[in-house]
Amino acid sequence: MKNIHTFPNFLFDNTSSFLSFFKNHKKILLIHSNNLVTSKLFELIKDKISKNIKFYNISKNKMSINKGFYNKLNNKVKFDLVLSIGGGSAIDIGKIFYAKILNENFLYSKKTRTNTLFKKNDIDFAALVTLPGSGAETSKTSIININKKKKFFISRNFVPKYIAYDFDTISNNSSEQQIFRVIDSMIHGIESNETILSSTFSNYLSQNIVIKSKKILKEILKNKNSKLKISIVKEICATSFYGGLAQSECGSSLCHAIAHYIENNFKLNHSESIFLATFIKLSYEKKMKHKSQLFKCEKLLKYIYFDFLKDEERTHYDRIINKISLTKFLKTIKEDPCFKLTKKHVDINKLKYVMSSIKKKRRWNI
Ligand SMILES: [Zn+2]
Repeated sequence: MKNIHTFPNFLFDNTSSFLSFFKNHKKILLIHSNNLVTSKLFELIKDKISKNIKFYNISKNKMSINKGFYNKLNNKVKFDLVLSIGGGSAIDIGKIFYAKILNENFLYSKKTRTNTLFKKNDIDFAALVTLPGSGAETSKTSIININKKKKFFISRNFVPKYIAYDFDTISNNSSEQQIFRVIDSMIHGIESNETILSSTFSNYLSQNIVIKSKKILKEILKNKNSKLKISIVKEICATSFYGGLAQSECGSSLCHAIAHYIENNFKLNHSESIFLATFIKLSYEKKMKHKSQLFKCEKLLKYIYFDFLKDEERTHYDRIINKISLTKFLKTIKEDPCFKLTKKHVDINKLKYVMSSIKKKRRWNI
């Protein structure tokens, strides 16, 4: 049972005041992806704080976390702010850079403790979210891919001190992209309450996130061909924020363990992998006769699979099933930290039975 929770200090309600807040910072390290460079937001950033920025584009600098990665930073430059702009990837890489700037010795090695609290704390860390859903902006975990495996770094200092969501950029995200990301937030809510760390706090968040996410998903599906309304965008951000907090404090369970396997082996992004993993979890829980919150979302998930996805997308997802090696699937899942956090014992033989039925039918939804 958790009894200490970590929160961000400042949440801004608009991008302009968020950026203006940093105008007196002397040297800013800005972590972003290719998407930023072509956006309207980029102009606003240059207008508000351009003279102090060193840009680091994660789309152009894909490399593993090792000495070479850290050496990309010029150690002589004294940054006073690390600012991540984007979704989970930009924010999680920002956390690693932030840790490195705070602590020279924070280098990736198998022996490095992953749960670290940094003593020196005179540099700020901020996140401006343009792809909400992962909840990385409120999470003290940084999940980085290393050699096709997920490496988890945990520190309370990873929760950004300053957070804002760029509503304008988010309103232009595609419905499909946003649907998967809202499902991810919803699963953060559900799974935070299924772990050995679950608490009264996660229970409260869990119930509310499920209700809100279902409402948001229905609204996006109803208006799938139009731009996202700002009122819905704000709700999407709220579920990302609270879903991230719930996951950060209480962890995740089976769906995330399964999704990590899919992500690493089939090059799907996190939220799409989560979507597919929900069907395995649903089948498993039916087999076990568990009563789970996920059942409340089953109808909606099935609708998205059968009626929202295009034929070619469904075929693409279903093709992945053939490529799943049952032995590797079970082995990887058993080693995943989210599997280890699961409160209810997972019957691995029943999970094997469920996955082989999915493989026989060659359809996620059985
Ligand atoms: Zn997730």
